[in-house]
Amino acid sequence: MNTATTCLDESDPNALTVEQALERVLAESAPVGGTETLEIAAALDRVLAEPVAARIDVPPARNSAMDGFALRAADGRAGNRLRLIGVSAAGHPWQGPVGPGECVRILTGAVVPEELDTVVMQEHAGLTESGQVTLEKDASPGANIRERGEDTRAGAVILDAGRRLTAADIGLLASQGIPQVAAVRRPRVAFFTTGDELVPIGQPLGPGQIHDSNRYTLAALLTRYPVEFVDLGVIADTEEAVRSALTQAGATADLILTTGGVSVGDADFVSQLLQKEGRVGFWKVAMKPGRPLAFGRFGRALFLGLPGNPVSAMATFSLFVRPALLRLSGAAAEPPWTLQARLLEDLHKRPGRADFQRGILEQRDGGWVVRSTGGQGSHQLRSMSLANAYIRLPAESSGASAGEEVEVIPFQSVF
Ligand code: AMP
Ligand code: MG
Repeated sequence: MNTATTCLDESDPNALTVEQALERVLAESAPVGGTETLEIAAALDRVLAEPVAARIDVPPARNSAMDGFALRAADGRAGNRLRLIGVSAAGHPWQGPVGPGECVRILTGAVVPEELDTVVMQEHAGLTESGQVTLEKDASPGANIRERGEDTRAGAVILDAGRRLTAADIGLLASQGIPQVAAVRRPRVAFFTTGDELVPIGQPLGPGQIHDSNRYTLAALLTRYPVEFVDLGVIADTEEAVRSALTQAGATADLILTTGGVSVGDADFVSQLLQKEGRVGFWKVAMKPGRPLAFGRFGRALFLGLPGNPVSAMATFSLFVRPALLRLSGAAAEPPWTLQARLLEDLHKRPGRADFQRGILEQRDGGWVVRSTGGQGSHQLRSMSLANAYIRLPAESSGASAGEEVEVIPFQSVF
């Protein structure tokens, strides 16, 4: 997609499209390698370094899916009476033999005696005073029985290397009696914000000052990923301060994240230093919000310099930092989920850059509808706070009208 000639204001011939930029980021984001052994209770969201095979058949034994009576299907004609000889309860299997014309009371999860091949649910059976079970319906062979190994078979791979463990995965491992897994080492991320105007929270604002929100946003975003992170604080807009922070981060981290200082203004030392002393991959992406984005290397670390505007910083995080973090940590960088939603109001846009407007997505009358959060300035963090999705308008688009179907990216799949 070439956006160079669509509009003088919005297009920049040196800017990459979002897709091109992502391709370059991914090409440089190799897994950091190294593994550690973790107890499964501490492994949620971590990435598997090796595939995991099932140790045992699960269920380990044929068992009942219902409370009822276990019997031979051959004895299971409607109207038949069977002699009740015992009980098989969960954790307390019936041990003795069961002869023809006999049945056992069985509870959910209890082992089905070997010689029996059907379970009649209790609602379809009656019990006489003399302890006989009467059947109201014909029983069918195999009914209400969970076969051994029906869920997983011993030896089969149940989780692949590169898998980010979910709560269900942790349970699956536990069901196999697997206490530990080999997880990929967490990449080390060092981050700092830049700007002489930035004041930490808890300190009153002087003239021209604002609170440093990006550092808190970044820390909050990073807690969701299998990474270790170090907050290097707010760095002043001097070449020396930025160099020292970059040098420290570049010596220890796998990835450096910064916000601010990546335009071409006088105080934009981040991009200057990257050019002089590191390596610059690219630093303009044809997207809105978030055009200035620096990507490269400094020291041993990969470097992503996000724009200072809080909305731009978050947008570039979701589109570029997230996939890089996943790749570095050995997981797949799945593309975001998209869905089509009916737009509830007109959206304005000039052609040239791909637009990621902040929207509120909801279900209405069985379909998806989306509306804008209002002010879309890249300094308006409230637009991110109110939103639950991006409305993606392609670079060449010149807006969209109420009633049109637009592409929406739910935040769940990008943060
Ligand atoms: P810059 O990219 O450094 O030119 O910053 C662009 C805009 O984002 C300016 O209005 C900055 O004041 C603002 N900004 C930069 N860093 C932060 C931050 N950490 N938190 C909040 N706003 C910021
Ligand atoms: Mg700045």
